[in-house]
Amino acid sequence: MDYQKIIEDIYRQIQPLKELGKQADYIPALAKVNPNQIGVCLKTMNGEEYSIGNSDVRFSIQSISKVFSLAVSLCLEGDNLWKRMGKEPSGNAFNSLFQLELEKGIPRNPMINAGAIVMADILLSHLPNPESDFIDFVRCIAKNETVNYNFSVARSERTCGYLNAAIANLLKYNNNIDNDIEQVLQFYFLMCSIEMNCKELSQAFLCFADHNNEFNFKDIHLTSSQVKRINAIMQTCGFYDESGEFSYLVGLPGKSGVGGGISAVYPQRYAVTVWSPRLNEKGNSVIGMKFLELLTTETKESIF
Ligand code: GLN
Repeated sequence: MDYQKIIEDIYRQIQPLKELGKQADYIPALAKVNPNQIGVCLKTMNGEEYSIGNSDVRFSIQSISKVFSLAVSLCLEGDNLWKRMGKEPSGNAFNSLFQLELEKGIPRNPMINAGAIVMADILLSHLPNPESDFIDFVRCIAKNETVNYNFSVARSERTCGYLNAAIANLLKYNNNIDNDIEQVLQFYFLMCSIEMNCKELSQAFLCFADHNNEFNFKDIHLTSSQVKRINAIMQTCGFYDESGEFSYLVGLPGKSGVGGGISAVYPQRYAVTVWSPRLNEKGNSVIGMKFLELLTTETKESIF
């Protein structure tokens, strides 16, 4: 398969869409990003790399970090994780509050904010040095020691994170947060603030593409079955209330973030990341969705 030619063709095809959508501006730091950027990188399990556009430019990975916190939380808690959250698609916005109230403080799944805030609490309780242990893990799977948090993006989000604070309070009220709410929120925002480029994200997601093997990175060990299940959660919940649409159009497990990134895996073959800041009304990158739809259509490679 000539992936370089395929991604170049698709890159040309999506140009007419590049003004569609609107970048996230509810986090002040994200409003400053130049929205006219598109990066793509596909990395295969046997070490080939194909890229185009702004694939070296780092961006805020935001909710893509939820896949990394799920990996660490599953390692720490095993199946006990599911006592504190579900694994069903929410069918609601990523920051929805009302479902959490109805369901008495048990988030629908780990890929929405409520689930990720509970995971931040779990990591704070179990990791000896949560901030450095978590970024070390991400550096390790990305094979890049320079990947880091952006502390000013995290602070900027905290200054206006009223809805996430409401979610954390509702979780605490329902006894689903052990630590201090402020500490949990700050750690959640910090994980969202990690900056990576398409190449680094695809490298990191290659670990999830291979679920024939155990997952061993630093002190994080997951069974092949747990890796398979991370893929299942991405498939059913990775795009909030557009998870069905992504599954229908693209047919790969993946995860999006409001920074405009989408990472997806074609199991046993490759990981691919597309980044473009303009989002649709569900909070997913317009170009990212279209690019991946065309990729799996052209290659006829999807899990279905
Ligand atoms: N930090 C963002 C928030 O909590 C993450 C949301 C996202 O990427 N969907 O709102």
